[in-house]
Amino acid sequence: MNGIDGGVAIVTGGAGGIGRAAALRFAEEGASVVVSDVDEDGIAETVDLIEADGGEASAVVTDVTDADAVAALVDETVETYGTPDFALNNAGIEGRTARLADQTLDDWDRTIAVNQTGVWNCLQAELSAMVDGGGDGGAIVNTSSIAGLSAAGGSPYVASKHGVVGLTRIAAAEYGREGIRVNAVCPGIIDTEMIARAEVEMGDQLAAMTEAKPLGRMGDPEEVAAAVVWLCSDDASFVTGHPLVVDGGFLA
Ligand code: NAD
Repeated sequence: MNGIDGGVAIVTGGAGGIGRAAALRFAEEGASVVVSDVDEDGIAETVDLIEADGGEASAVVTDVTDADAVAALVDETVETYGTPDFALNNAGIEGRTARLADQTLDDWDRTIAVNQTGVWNCLQAELSAMVDGGGDGGAIVNTSSIAGLSAAGGSPYVASKHGVVGLTRIAAAEYGREGIRVNAVCPGIIDTEMIARAEVEMGDQLAAMTEAKPLGRMGDPEEVAAAVVWLCSDDASFVTGHPLVVDGGFLA
């Protein structure tokens, strides 16, 4: 793959699941990785895994709903490794799966705050740093979902993930001339803690739904990580504003 070697990457939600897999893959491709999450032990583990493999990484605890904390994360990245070349804005929560009228305003507010405002906060800080960093451009990926393109979830989650696709498109449109590409990944059902929690709630229904889809299985976080790193690479140099579906055919 072209164009990852030697860069600097920020990954939010890097304590496990898709974020950890992407952090490991960025490091494998030669990037220095700043791994961020609210889960301090989880990001320390991710950094240990990267270092055990000979990679370069550091951990920064950040709640993506806190704009000042996100700005501090990006500042610390610049101080430690230099201007970020890549970012994966991936921190997210699933919200509740109740029907719309049975949701609460608190659940709506929390899900939008983490999944949508969190991505907005990250984009603001990362785009500013990339523009101020001397014009080398950059590549950002936001983690949306098949719920960003269809009704695959509770209403707060579906709205937040559609919002992530919208933010991806507008950021791509506004920053393309500065050499910054912004894309989204839209994973299907991926075997992570988030899905383990859904399995508790949904029981056999989730397995049956997965088995009925074209590839007949859940995805692995590494399969999403591969798409993220490709979107950041020079091999994707003409791809921007695109929500890339990685779902084993779920939406087919
Ligand atoms: P996960 O629960 O393992 O990872 C989510 C991470 O986000 C956790 O480490 C969590 O601590 C972190 N996080 C939550 N709130 C945060 C906050 N306010 N600030 C910083 N970090 C916070 O689950 P995952 O499946 O790896 O999810 C990663 C992303 O992928 C999420 O955005 C999720 O919506 C999305 N996604 C997952 C699936 C799936 O099937 N697993 C499908 C589509 C999209």
